Amino acid sequence: MNGPPINPIERVDCPVDVLLAAYAAGALDPALMALVGAHLDLRPKSRAFLAALETAAGGWLAELEPAPFADRDRRLAAACAAIDAAPEDAPATVPIADADDALPPSLRRYLGRASDALAWTTRPDGVAECVISRDRHAEVVVLRAPGGTELPTHEHAGLELTLVLTGGFRDAAGRYGPGDICVADETRAHRPVIDPGGDCVCFAVTVVHVRLPDAAGRLLRLLVR
Ligand code: ZN
Repeated sequence: MNGPPINPIERVDCPVDVLLAAYAAGALDPALMALVGAHLDLRPKSRAFLAALETAAGGWLAELEPAPFADRDRRLAAACAAIDAAPEDAPATVPIADADDALPPSLRRYLGRASDALAWTTRPDGVAECVISRDRHAEVVVLRAPGGTELPTHEHAGLELTLVLTGGFRDAAGRYGPGDICVADETRAHRPVIDPGGDCVCFAVTVVHVRLPDAAGRLLRLLVR
């Protein structure tokens, strides 16, 4: 295939709606599920949209033609054996609800720690970062930038999704406050400027290539038809 990969998220008017549809379809990897989950923790309106998507998904499943279930007894026995062999759930080590923590519950569950247990290193541009994972396919970081910081203009090697947790920043496309997701990719360089005042803390996921399954787009179409 020639040319850059098609990024479904940039091809719609509201990338966050596509993310929510993919979340409803269970089609995102764990870091993006956590990012969207944290957005939902912060935004009641998005929770209402997600509920509508899930209702649409239920209707969609009900409309599907039944398909024969080959080798039913053997599959059922294998599923029961897998359940019997699974270890008991480990007790949660992080409280699910802690109103004092800067991290929304979904993000705290994904990270397995509260914000005061993050290990920060300071970059040359003055931004503190806690790298959760970084390889050639994806980077997952928590960022903390002091108020008033002007970051250098930068390009993106993939799709960058930045969820604001506290504080805010702006770039040429607009301003982002707590719960907002800034979407940038290979086609868009930007220069974020942190709001004056307190720190801005963000959870950022950069992936080299995201391909959402048809299920997410179909959910969206069901909702808007
Ligand atoms: Zn960026």
